[in-house]
Amino acid sequence: MASFTLHGIPVSQGIAIGRAHLLAAAALDVKHYLIADEQVEAEVERLRSAIAAVHQELLVIRSDLPKDAPPELGAFIDVHGLILSDPMLAEVPLNIIRHRYYNAEWALVTQIDELSAQFDEIEDPYLRERKADIQQVGERVLKVLTGTAITLPAAGTADGVPASIVVVAHDISPADMLQFRDGAFAGFVTDLGGQNSHTAIVARSLDIPAAVGMNDASTLIKQDDMLIIDGDAGVVIVDPSPLVLAQYRARQERMLRDRKKLGRLKKTPAITQDGTEIKLLANIELPADSAAALEAGANGVGLFRSEFLFLGRAGHLEKFPSEDEQFESYRQAVVAMKGRPVTIRTLDVGADKPLDEDEQTSLNPALGLRAIRYCLSEPQMFLTQLRAILRASAFGPIKLLVPMMAHAFEIDQTLALIGQAKEQLRQRKQKFDEQILVGAMIEIPAAALALPIFIKRLDFLSIGTNDLIQYTLAIDRVDHEVAHLYNPLHPAILYLLSSVISMGRKAGIPVSVCGEMAGDVKWTRLLLGMGLLEFSMHPAQLLSVKQEILNSDLTLLEPQVKKVLRATEASAIAAAMEQLQTLTSEVEVKLTARRR
Ligand code: PEP
Ligand code: MG
Repeated sequence: MASFTLHGIPVSQGIAIGRAHLLAAAALDVKHYLIADEQVEAEVERLRSAIAAVHQELLVIRSDLPKDAPPELGAFIDVHGLILSDPMLAEVPLNIIRHRYYNAEWALVTQIDELSAQFDEIEDPYLRERKADIQQVGERVLKVLTGTAITLPAAGTADGVPASIVVVAHDISPADMLQFRDGAFAGFVTDLGGQNSHTAIVARSLDIPAAVGMNDASTLIKQDDMLIIDGDAGVVIVDPSPLVLAQYRARQERMLRDRKKLGRLKKTPAITQDGTEIKLLANIELPADSAAALEAGANGVGLFRSEFLFLGRAGHLEKFPSEDEQFESYRQAVVAMKGRPVTIRTLDVGADKPLDEDEQTSLNPALGLRAIRYCLSEPQMFLTQLRAILRASAFGPIKLLVPMMAHAFEIDQTLALIGQAKEQLRQRKQKFDEQILVGAMIEIPAAALALPIFIKRLDFLSIGTNDLIQYTLAIDRVDHEVAHLYNPLHPAILYLLSSVISMGRKAGIPVSVCGEMAGDVKWTRLLLGMGLLEFSMHPAQLLSVKQEILNSDLTLLEPQVKKVLRATEASAIAAAMEQLQTLTSEVEVKLTARRR
């Protein structure tokens, strides 16, 4: 068969090479037939017990979740449980059997199609993607009805030989993703899904190469086809020629070797060729992630996204975690980091992280009551969080980071509430760090442009490039239709970044970057050349960024970054960036010569 290439959305990096294993979608070959009157109750019962069996299955998966499973996984499985209990799925198909005499499978598929069509009309792309959850739950019930439970071949990684099975599916539920653990599968390809789909999030946290949004990959690819997934490009090559295969194998080996080598840098301080020390910090979502931060040799936590303690609380009586529950999480993180500073960001809910999806009413949630705006509108909830963070500061160095501020009065109100929380603790005679440092995320263009307001009032700044780019370029960061406009090299972004970094340095106030830019080696030299001294990123990215830092010489980078900043046309910026990447210091030239 001739080789061909499919293009989708890159969601998890790396190269996977292996034979295709197709997961059939049960919904595709469902039997449709009408039943007789006297069979109705038996058919209703058949569907009811399939739903009950799936409930049981989800409970078992939930309780068997390994301790180190990605935290999102449990929440996703809970969502599937809720969908399964919803009358739209648990009741309506039973009525279809009763009134239209459809067999159970047909009734279920009819209702799933109906619900899917309703979801297609939702404007919010995040909610629209949740259609996949309903279909995945439906698939699970169908598989019980038809007796075709998911079967994955028992692929192993014998003695470090990379796994060689690539799973190809119309879609994969997060619960089924559990079977990808332990590197037993080389990667996966799905027809559905976007950057933001649950499956993509889990793939990234499991570190498996993946490409999603491939449209009809699962019909074009046949069982046992040879596949290459280029996870960085979101490309799948089907039946590659021996030459292409050899090239990718060589690239894959190089990547694996590089990864191994990087491990040796764990204890090496991140110092540039000219002797400037750079701080490398970790972004974490839950206290348990501190283990990965330490393992990667992070100098501390630069961003603890505390909202993950608040999300996915389905089944809890209280909407928010209590002060003690939060205190315990913050204390665990700071104790685990063994004296390294932990920067805890106060609750950043809203936009693509709604506390309660049912209550989300804002037309433009990214511009709505998000993050600090929400916290200032719920002062009791905010005070509870502040007290919990302050109490944990008695157990190790903690810094308080506040998201999404733009106005001086927001900073003043926040500082006043921190003062109030401190006073409440003094009255309770509870210990905390009186000198706790307070900083702001710079992620709204207005904040970057009115920096003196922040410098005057706060101890440190952290640039959230994910939102800064979203708000400066007016593109929703979760909308794949405008994803191509998300460009860190837009002159406006370059200007804002360099001005915040240099103004902060002039004022003697520490500035870090904690958005995705900080963890992508493509931008390391650019940020270094702008004068950035602190980078905060996902722990998995830390060592490759460190390697880039070790190979960089600021005396060479700085003048070249000035050229990047002076350029205005995209082509000139790209050319200046290319030169920046190839700059090699004399020290490095000598080292390379000596190695030869
Ligand atoms: C950012 O906006 O860059 C950031 C780090 O915060 P989040 O991605 O959590 O919005
Ligand atoms: Mg942000």
